Amino acid sequence: MKIDAMQIRRRVELEVLPRVERPGRYAGGELNSARGCGSDPSALRVVLCFPEVYEIGMSNLGFMLLYHLLNGIPGVECERAFAPWPDMERELSARGLPLYSLESFTPLSEFDIVGFSLSYEMTYTNILTMLSLGGVGRRTADRANSGPLVIAGGVCACNPEPLADFFDAFFIGEAEEGIVDIVEAARASKKRDSGKSALLNALADIPGVYVPSLCETFTTPSGLAAVSCGTRGNIKRRFPRDLDSIHAPPAFIVPGIEAVHDRIQIEIFRGCVQGCRYCQAGMIYRPHRERGPRSLSRNARDLFDAMGCDEISLLSLNAPDYSDMGELLDSLSAFAAPRRVSISMPSTRVDSFSEEVYAKLREVRATGLTLAPEAGSQRLRNVINKRVTEEDIMKTVSAASRAGWKKIKLYFMIGLPTETEEDVRGIAELVARMVETRGRSASRVKGKQVFTVSVSNFIPKPHTPFQWEPMDSMESLIAKKRILRGLIDRRAVKLDMHDVETSFLEAALARGDRRLCSVIERAWLSGCRFDGWSDMLKFDAWTHAFASSDLNPDLFARASMQPLSPTPWSHIDCGVSEKYLFLERNKALRGETTPDCGPRGGGCSGCGIDCSSK
Ligand code: SF4
Repeated sequence: MKIDAMQIRRRVELEVLPRVERPGRYAGGELNSARGCGSDPSALRVVLCFPEVYEIGMSNLGFMLLYHLLNGIPGVECERAFAPWPDMERELSARGLPLYSLESFTPLSEFDIVGFSLSYEMTYTNILTMLSLGGVGRRTADRANSGPLVIAGGVCACNPEPLADFFDAFFIGEAEEGIVDIVEAARASKKRDSGKSALLNALADIPGVYVPSLCETFTTPSGLAAVSCGTRGNIKRRFPRDLDSIHAPPAFIVPGIEAVHDRIQIEIFRGCVQGCRYCQAGMIYRPHRERGPRSLSRNARDLFDAMGCDEISLLSLNAPDYSDMGELLDSLSAFAAPRRVSISMPSTRVDSFSEEVYAKLREVRATGLTLAPEAGSQRLRNVINKRVTEEDIMKTVSAASRAGWKKIKLYFMIGLPTETEEDVRGIAELVARMVETRGRSASRVKGKQVFTVSVSNFIPKPHTPFQWEPMDSMESLIAKKRILRGLIDRRAVKLDMHDVETSFLEAALARGDRRLCSVIERAWLSGCRFDGWSDMLKFDAWTHAFASSDLNPDLFARASMQPLSPTPWSHIDCGVSEKYLFLERNKALRGETTPDCGPRGGGCSGCGIDCSSK
């Protein structure tokens, strides 16, 4: 029996929210959220889904930009939905209530488009929860000619194959550049009532859109399934070349409950000039494109007036690479300092720490300093093209101490290609020298360690120079963690090390092919949810799901692929050429580095993006 939005809202508010954790996740009605959705029958209705809890989704700038972008298109209404925590899933299922949008409490099945933002492989089972609970068929085959268009985008779409059977289409690139084409195709199809298959063909003709059901898979020499889209060719990533030509929303929704990042986020530039060889974002978001300091500072003021947060975060892959940082900080500090609003920079390359910039930051109650040496030896830093020396690192630690920083976070990775035990021990030795540089007694402030060392496990991601390399074995990673735990002095340093099983699964899902759809579905049917939360991960259930699909996760996570041979993702062209990735891989294995690219670096290193073309 069909239940309307009003009934859903009433029953959820009366029967469900009193019984679940953090009911604010599911209540909607926040400041700056869209109003009056569902009242215009001619509108194209889109529900934007984030397959994680509300607090995480609401902190995702890409998700919020897309929400405001879609609501800015005339005749389009965009609403939101987030993955329900297991208690909410249980309460809704027990009452036969569907997952609904926060703006109008409309079931997902009643929208024209159900769009997913994909930023982390370990959220894939949550996608199936949202589709199923929302009354939308899980697989494209279940929605052949009825129901909403189910489409996805985001960083994980650069290898869409593990999800190919669940999505009608994927958008490859930055939404500002293609979303209008997709909306217009969907609007035309709705008007003509031309049916899903005609819509999918129309979408497949839009540059940047991949329709898996219209492409064939074939088996590669390494036993993986690659894809051919026939005459349509590879799917080219789309991206805006001039960020200042894109309208920056003057307001974002103010979360109803505290979000993970409860602050104003402004994106100062996209892309990166550095070319770290393990970094997927550094490759797939090329080229480096900046917003002007005046438009950024204007936008920050508008956002402050509309949201009133006490922190402004300057988002990018490495903030000090921003060419007008001095001017930007001057104009931001002028209005932030008197209002005691702090300014933060989430990630900073060790050798680009400028005392002048950080002195400015300190003026406005800055938060913490984040540095990413990544590897413990110079040899391995050269292999991954992290061109920072130990001298740079020690200089930064001393400067940060002189500047009065009380929290310094350091990122390292283990399991990198060519890594030796000596390199792993090098991490502990480097950290010990940092503590010495700061002074052992000064390494604890108010009983807390100044240094936090976060050690993650290297995952060879698609569209990087290391995409063909196998991930290290779980046994080897566990042994390396044991070495670090034994060597690093936890009185002076807080040590966080990522879970190996989670990283191994992430690698299999990141490098998998279309056969993983059945694995993900089996894992979901056996109760897997929120796999990215270490206390929620059911590794045995995943192992069983692989086995019941006659697949071994090693085939994907630990595959050593023949360079330049087809991979499950080689039909997706992110702009950086396979040839460039291959050359960078070989330089890595020879321990050679490549300078920053672009006008302020070593010039163009020919990655294939062709920055010169407008
Ligand atoms: S085309 Fe050249 S300058 Fe542009 S991103 Fe690639 S390497 Fe850098």
